[in-house]
Amino acid sequence: RIVKDIFSQLPVVVSHHLFINNQWQDAVSGKTFPTINPATGEVICQVAEADEADVDKAVKAAHNAFRLGSPWRRMDASHRGLLLNRLADAIERDSTYLAELETLDNGKPYAVAYTVDLPNVVKCLRYYAGWADKWEGKTIPIDGDYFCYTRHEPIGVCGQIIPWNFPLLMQAWKLGPALATGNTVVMKVAEQTPLTALYVASLIKEVGFPEGVVNILPGMGPSAGAAIAKHMDVDKVAFTGSTEVGHLIQQASGSSNLKKVTLELGGKSPNIILSDANMEDAVEQSHFALFFNQGQCCCAGSRTYVQADIYDEFVERSVERAKRRVVGNPFDLKTEQGPQVDQEQFNKILGYISSGKREGAKLMCGGGVAADRGYFIQPTVFGDVQDNMTIAREEIFGPVMQILKFKSLEEVVTRANDTKYGLAAAVFTKDIDKANYVSNGLRAGTVWINCYDVFGAQAPFGGYKASGNGRELGEYGLDNYTEVKTVTIKVPQKNS
Ligand code: ADP
Repeated sequence: RIVKDIFSQLPVVVSHHLFINNQWQDAVSGKTFPTINPATGEVICQVAEADEADVDKAVKAAHNAFRLGSPWRRMDASHRGLLLNRLADAIERDSTYLAELETLDNGKPYAVAYTVDLPNVVKCLRYYAGWADKWEGKTIPIDGDYFCYTRHEPIGVCGQIIPWNFPLLMQAWKLGPALATGNTVVMKVAEQTPLTALYVASLIKEVGFPEGVVNILPGMGPSAGAAIAKHMDVDKVAFTGSTEVGHLIQQASGSSNLKKVTLELGGKSPNIILSDANMEDAVEQSHFALFFNQGQCCCAGSRTYVQADIYDEFVERSVERAKRRVVGNPFDLKTEQGPQVDQEQFNKILGYISSGKREGAKLMCGGGVAADRGYFIQPTVFGDVQDNMTIAREEIFGPVMQILKFKSLEEVVTRANDTKYGLAAAVFTKDIDKANYVSNGLRAGTVWINCYDVFGAQAPFGGYKASGNGRELGEYGLDNYTEVKTVTIKVPQKNS
């Protein structure tokens, strides 16, 4: 169905407009913006740029799709599930094309997009498709002659603002629970990576979602994103992105209509290696924890704490592994690491590398630019990192590993928790008592033991502290898209 450009062998872009009411539209302003191939710095195409006026149109469409008696509101819950399953099927059918488009727009290796991102998108949608007719309320034995039950109702129009590091997956994490529970959606996709979400929009129409149920807007954060966050007719906003913008989203809710807010924000996740851990495995997993997705993961294991007696060997082996990491053309199947997503992130990461050197961390490998065009950065490892250094406190979001030394378990738990973040953490050890002590002590929404970045649509994910509010995925993810209505009926006489 989808062709490649016969000269460049790159995927052809078929959708680059706003998607409102199941129709492709130009922006009201007529404005467009370029989306860039991060492997070359070249423009892929122009994309329609939504701002406040377009958000308004999309919210009206979503509002109308949610009106009482609308096709969407009257649809059987099982049929909502069927539509989600059909969407998963269509994405699976076109997953080669979608993975290529994701690689083109984001820079992630095609081998990863195809084997990790796409299958997880499909699984997430199927998981939530299953929930559509199983999200049940309760009957409640209240005092008196009454019959009392709860209904799990959709919240209404949900604004969803997503980032660029896993464009398709973040779209699925947001759409799955929102649509399973019967909400309507106005989604703003990241300006760096709008293309795959727009192609999915065409599939949403193809599989038969009624018009206005899902509206997808490419656009900038401070204009289109902010317009969603402050809109008086948006009932809920779900945001994934930086903690900085998370504050703005929460404030916008507070100063507009108190829309419900869920946030999945930044992290500085500790990854703790005890001296009894399997060394080879811990080195490989810690490498993966940090370098996966070009280091562009909110839950990246970006503070690697290693127990003193194995510290030197661990650093040496980690440096060896980082030097072996294959950086290059993301369409090459051997490539492990592609470019960073854009010039801004590229500059920011190089700035953090300079600060690490300036503040006295020991640069063990990498530290520079890895190609003469595109946004490639060498896999970089810092040793002798201290807790107060900028590279140990701030989110770098790039291929830069910090290795810190610790002596006792009590000490490492205290140091690991000394951060404003609390998204994820990991511990490597063969001792179950130590694993339990550390995992219970860590203030983080996810703890991995002897593994890292293991996700399932069934398992909730989200942050403590400034890493966010609420949980996505799993049954818990449904709560954030549900209003609980208590209905109490007077009855002539109750019997137990
Ligand atoms: P990053 O630094 O990783 O790009 P951001 O938090 O800036 O993370 O971006 C995540 C998403 O939030 C993107 O879709 C972006 O356009 C959007 N965004 C950025 N600024 C704002 C804002 N002021 N209001 C709403 N959304 C925003």
